[in-house]
Amino acid sequence: MPESSSLLFVTNAEGRPVAVQIPFALWKRLEAEAGHLLPDARPGFGKNGRVEEPLKAFDEFLRYWDFRYPYNPAVSCPHCGVSVTDWREGEGRPFRLTNASLGGLLVFRCLKCNTTIRQKHFKDHVAYEFTPPHKRQS
Ligand SMILES: [Zn+2]
Repeated sequence: MPESSSLLFVTNAEGRPVAVQIPFALWKRLEAEAGHLLPDARPGFGKNGRVEEPLKAFDEFLRYWDFRYPYNPAVSCPHCGVSVTDWREGEGRPFRLTNASLGGLLVFRCLKCNTTIRQKHFKDHVAYEFTPPHKRQS
């Protein structure tokens, strides 16, 4: 097993690199910043190949909530304008949770435009950060 910071280059029959495999622990650190560059990337697959959101981590996030305000489940995308009062409910949920940490970070992906939305919870306030979808060169 490679060391946790090791990269593994996958090569084709000619020995040319075609892919890079990174340790999962490293991916978890990069995902929030680089996930939007990989539109087909998924936070994980469950049974039947369906996308699995880190709901256990989110439950822990709520269980250990010690901020000085109630949790607000509203999410909105400043790039395409989609907005919901509770990201967990409704038909065709437009946002997917891609990361949740006890430190107060929630990361969502807008399924309409692929913008990454980060909610950083601090003791007295929430800071919002957005990364618009990667603009492809044509
Ligand atoms: Zn959007």
